[in-house]
Amino acid sequence: MKSEIISVGSELLLGNTINTNATFISMKLAELGIDIFYHTVVGDNANRLKDVTKLAISRSDLIIYTGGLGPTKDDLTKEVVSETLGIELELNNIYLKNIKEYFKKKNAKMTENNIKQAYIPKGGKILNNDIGTAPGVFLNRKGKKIVFLPGPPNEMKTMFNNYTVPLLKQENIIKSKVIKTMGIGESSLEELIKDIIANQSNPTIATYAKQGQVEIRVTGKGRSEKEVNQLINPIIDKINKKVGNYIYSYNDESIEEVFFQLLKKNNMTVGFCESCTGGLVSSRFTALADASQVFERGIVAYSNNSKMEELNVNKDTLEAHGPVSEETAREMALGLLNKSNVDIALSTTGIAGPTGGTKTKPLGLVYIGLATKNENYAIKTFFTGDRNSIQRKAANKVFAEGRK
Ligand code: ATP
Ligand code: MG
Repeated sequence: MKSEIISVGSELLLGNTINTNATFISMKLAELGIDIFYHTVVGDNANRLKDVTKLAISRSDLIIYTGGLGPTKDDLTKEVVSETLGIELELNNIYLKNIKEYFKKKNAKMTENNIKQAYIPKGGKILNNDIGTAPGVFLNRKGKKIVFLPGPPNEMKTMFNNYTVPLLKQENIIKSKVIKTMGIGESSLEELIKDIIANQSNPTIATYAKQGQVEIRVTGKGRSEKEVNQLINPIIDKINKKVGNYIYSYNDESIEEVFFQLLKKNNMTVGFCESCTGGLVSSRFTALADASQVFERGIVAYSNNSKMEELNVNKDTLEAHGPVSEETAREMALGLLNKSNVDIALSTTGIAGPTGGTKTKPLGLVYIGLATKNENYAIKTFFTGDRNSIQRKAANKVFAEGRK
């Protein structure tokens, strides 16, 4: 939904009053997920108000006016906009009664001018003004929404929060669910779910490749949270049936977060020993709040020497297979497991580049080792990209392997 704000009042143009209403409404619209494209300030002048109204109606779905709803002659917003759009003004008896009561309560005399305020654009819904006399109006016309709010900021804010937001929300709940996958490229993933994507308009389904992973964003639109969930959930089930093997989160979590939650749930501790990732795995893991509940230690063992000293990797292993090998990765993880009392130890060793690759051990080759009381092994993986992205993808894989 494209929206814009038109602030009416010559005092705003002259600089006597700062246009705080537009700022306030903009922030609120952003919270509602409504795009806001224009702010206009126009004086209390019928012709110019007519011009900006014509322009606004040609380009926006939601137009919010503030100011010029008062009882005096220079307050002409409702009248001019209605005339421009060909909408009649109707006397609203309920509102007239409200105004009469308001003056009675205040023990003040009601003037003819006040009756002018009770004229409402036909089909409009009154937005109550609990503080002052000028009522606001919410108008739905030919698919466009037009809102009139009074100028005084305290009145405008109350009416916007209490009466306008619920009406905008009702028609405009947008909710996204982000499913995260790993181990499959964007085009292959899209191929697998293309039937689901093709048949959808609400919710919409879109895939995004991000840092060696692919996200699937399912976005639904409806009148209530419940209605949107009812639209989104069956789609997620369908996606799950097709590509569930690759999914690690249905709630937009990072892979380290998912691994962390799993460890926490099972009351397990973890340690990382890293060569080619240089501490990135530990760094990302400890960036999570409460990591200390499961994280025991991290060791960066970069040189052969440190692998032997810190992790008890065999000299023979290093000489026979090299530091980037299945055997070394396995022994690194095992060494950490034996040195500490972690339940699960994970290791990385590989060639992150940009130099150092050979025919048998190409750039991007990374071994990931895992050791627990019951098993120890290493897997061979290949990653593409620059040094940074190979390291990042290797760290992702460590968390994914740990989660298994
Ligand atoms: P009233 O019933 O008070 O006449 P109104 O809707 O006609 O309400 P205005 O006469 O335009 O409102 O403005 C009333 C007060 O609100 C003025 O003090 C004005 O400076 C202030 N005001 C108007 N527009 C804005 C705005 N966009 N931002 C901040 N203050 C504003
Ligand atoms: Mg005014």
